[in-house]
Amino acid sequence: MLFVEFARVCEQVAATTKKLEKAALLGPFLGRLDDQDLAIAARFFAGTPFSLADQRVLNVGGAVIRDAVLQLTGALPEEWSRLLVALGEAGRAAQQLLAQYETVEPTLTLADVMAVYEQLEAARGPSKKVPIIMATLQRMTPLEAAYFIKLMLGGDLRIGLQEGLVEDALARAAGVPVGLVQRANMLLGDIGETALFARYGELAAATMRLFHPLKFMLASPISDPQEIRKGIAGPFFVEDKYDGIRAQAHKQGDRVVLYSRTLDEISQRFPELHAPLLNLPGEWVLDGEILAARDGRILPFKALQARLGRKDVSEDLLASTPVIFVAYDLLYQDGDVLLDAPLYMRRVQLEDLVRTYASDQPVDGVVSGTVMPSLQLLVRDVERVERLFEQARARGNEGLMVKDPDSHYKPGRRGREWLKVKKALATLDVVVTAAEVGNGHRRRFLSDYTFAVRRSADDPELLNVGKAYSGLTDPEVQELTDWFTAHTVRDFGRVKLVEPQIVFEVAFDSVQPSPRHKSGYALRFPRIIRWRKDKPAAEIDTLDTVRQLAELT
Ligand code: AMP
Repeated sequence: MLFVEFARVCEQVAATTKKLEKAALLGPFLGRLDDQDLAIAARFFAGTPFSLADQRVLNVGGAVIRDAVLQLTGALPEEWSRLLVALGEAGRAAQQLLAQYETVEPTLTLADVMAVYEQLEAARGPSKKVPIIMATLQRMTPLEAAYFIKLMLGGDLRIGLQEGLVEDALARAAGVPVGLVQRANMLLGDIGETALFARYGELAAATMRLFHPLKFMLASPISDPQEIRKGIAGPFFVEDKYDGIRAQAHKQGDRVVLYSRTLDEISQRFPELHAPLLNLPGEWVLDGEILAARDGRILPFKALQARLGRKDVSEDLLASTPVIFVAYDLLYQDGDVLLDAPLYMRRVQLEDLVRTYASDQPVDGVVSGTVMPSLQLLVRDVERVERLFEQARARGNEGLMVKDPDSHYKPGRRGREWLKVKKALATLDVVVTAAEVGNGHRRRFLSDYTFAVRRSADDPELLNVGKAYSGLTDPEVQELTDWFTAHTVRDFGRVKLVEPQIVFEVAFDSVQPSPRHKSGYALRFPRIIRWRKDKPAAEIDTLDTVRQLAELT
């Protein structure tokens, strides 16, 4: 099949915004191709010459393409820049420039163009790549050139066609549910091969192939732990949220490969993880986080940054910034794809794999060994989350992740099965001025507290800034109820003004001007972090601090 035919179908696809019409264009075109062309065309429609499983990359950037086009056409760099701005992309800019020249008959086939990409991949450096591109462009019509270049830059043809639509077209053509195509494509990491499986009615037989990255499951942010209950009714997992680099590790035989969240291979940047990961038996795919850690302590993200941005790691860097791998999910093990197994089952297998075989030198309960499972607890009570958050922060981590134990692993999705409890802006030390009867199981307690800051260090006038009820344990609430009852200065029934002596540390998401409180400010989503028995009321924060925080948000 001629490459120009592919380009023409792309133009037709670009001309409609309707998914159904796009699928109706792709289906018959793909149906006319032989097996080899089908695989190539499916990949091309998805936007890249090489599949995910292939992991080859062209390494052709905008500058290489510009040099090739300018050398070929004699156009000036300013002209190229003007076209790039006007048309928004190199493919169309080249098409326009080439259109001014005598044009050739289209002769290149899909396979010919694929062979050029392979040649380009093997050629090292711009000086080798530019001549290959020039020679190819010379044999192309302007329309072919546009698509040849779009594919080289990779990822998106800019015709309103994502991989999902190619999957959709394949499913329609084969008369199967799209889920079956998506699954095969995910396991194989190659839309081209998936197209062949679909053609031969073998989609269900597709099995996991390692060494291509699966997309990562993502989390939704929440600022109030009560929001957990919107999606998870029962107990939930709470894990430390590690501030490192998300990574997926694949192992089979004597091979270990690490992929980044951008689906690139990053193994060579973390050589010290190779042997410990190889130590874990069998074949598997782990999801987790790479962290810098030394002497049992997690180092700040800054330290890890030194390891990024360079391909090879010096001995000095290896010694100053050693890394560990914290595993939090197991996606595949010894022939079984575990994505549809509930998280609590995956976790059992994960701990079995990682705990038993990882090198193990427990230090401080924070970091043990070079490979370790994430710290995880099963929690029933939302009220505990605040405290756990602070503990995670004290261990040098960013905050907390909350996960539904029954959830499946959904690659590439951001849902409510995984929640990230957002970092609080800052904390304030405040004093309680009023206590109120609570709701639900706390209706017999004084559990809702209004709190205040001081006008200034010299002026002890108390100015209310907010009200909070979450964050304390039941025994603490009991103890406080007794104390407030004994120290009520004015009783309004459900609300009691109390002696201002109890100091809390509160976290919140932002500070906003508000006429509701005497301070003129209100905290958004305040949560009690600690009862500061160690702090006298005279030392709480002042209005000035509140004002500064308000300016920051
Ligand atoms: P976000 O990237 O903002 O969606 O937040 C989720 C990110 O938190 C993930 O991509 C991970 O890099 C990171 N993370 C840190 N610790 C964990 C954990 N225990 N479970 C899942 N993700 C985690």
